[in-house]
Amino acid sequence: MPADVVYMDNHATTRVDPRVVEAMLPYFNERYGNAGSTSHAYGWEAREAVDAARHSIASAIGAAEHEVVFTSGATESNNLALRGTAERLRRRGNHLVSVTTEHKSILDPLARLARRDHQITLLPVRGAGDPLAGWLDPEQVAAAIKPESLLVSVMLANNEIGVLQPIAEIGAICRERGVWLHCDATQAVGKLPVDVAALNVDLLSFTAHKIYGPKGVGALYLRRTGANAVRLAAQIDGGGQETGLRSGTLNVPGIVGFARALELCLAGMDAERRRLAALRDRLFAGLTGAIDGVTLNGPALDQPSLRLPGNLNCSFAYVDGEALMMNMGRLAVSSGSACTSANPEPSHVLRALGLNEDQTRASLRFGLGRFNTDADVDFAIEHVAETVRRLRKLSSMSA
Ligand code: PMP
Repeated sequence: MPADVVYMDNHATTRVDPRVVEAMLPYFNERYGNAGSTSHAYGWEAREAVDAARHSIASAIGAAEHEVVFTSGATESNNLALRGTAERLRRRGNHLVSVTTEHKSILDPLARLARRDHQITLLPVRGAGDPLAGWLDPEQVAAAIKPESLLVSVMLANNEIGVLQPIAEIGAICRERGVWLHCDATQAVGKLPVDVAALNVDLLSFTAHKIYGPKGVGALYLRRTGANAVRLAAQIDGGGQETGLRSGTLNVPGIVGFARALELCLAGMDAERRRLAALRDRLFAGLTGAIDGVTLNGPALDQPSLRLPGNLNCSFAYVDGEALMMNMGRLAVSSGSACTSANPEPSHVLRALGLNEDQTRASLRFGLGRFNTDADVDFAIEHVAETVRRLRKLSSMSA
């Protein structure tokens, strides 16, 4: 990595904390057993490490150990939750409810289900300009549930605009109506208190690499006790690991790192929330002080209960989005285009708020994290302001 590039894209992924790497290392070169090997000490050691990690991760979210299934990440957890429910409960109904601003790992499996005779309702959120921009009104969920509904899926924290959804209220509605609630909590676990019972969720997805853990390991919580306990159809069959719900050799170093990463987040959570919110406020004040035509995307910054502290998403008027992004050079941020494919498309989240295509493209998402400092923020302000000024001057000269 070029040393002079400031990393501010912590919603995309995070640097693995050195303490996490340290915890993982022995599971590559010394304790490398298969957690499924029951006939020797290598296997027992690996199994013990997985059991301890499962215990730690489950208690971090208020779950029981047997309610946590390890996966390869939140994409897989989301797919398992949605497809596993739709398949398992097919005879009971065929309707699923979600939101226009969800991650693609929710929207794309739902689109596939829609092509296979499921009905999908995608609810709108409050639009740009509203202090609650991006927020989903629980009343909308109540109105969308029908007798054939099986599942509602709503994310806790949005990965682009940082809005927090009223999951506990939505969960209470779902319980009353006998519908499961799945929550993609990928951007929230480790950053905000997440308790599956307090949130009234039945299924919850999360992943290690957003919380200074390794890539390629995640988990799905499923409520296995109480009335209407969750049962899913497995989507990967084989050796029967994870009580048959997710076959495949367990990623022991990844699971150990996942648990360590989450423990570190919990230990410093309150202080880190305040620190990141202060950095974010400094960034927004700096940008708006340095240049005009900067608008905030997502809920107002003075609404901590509605916002992920490390997120800032802004649109910049009078600049071409592509030119803006191409000139970010020494600042690693992401744009209002989802560059996940060869053809970058304008962000569906910003479009759902009602931004036009130009405003959407001329947007930057700043994701502040554990390793960012005041100096990084000051650099970002300077760099973005200078770039925006230069691009505006160029475009006024060519006009
Ligand atoms: N959901 C959300 C909200 C995300 O931000 C991401 C990661 N961009 C995912 C799901 C997918 O997670 P993973 O990379 O672990 O598959």
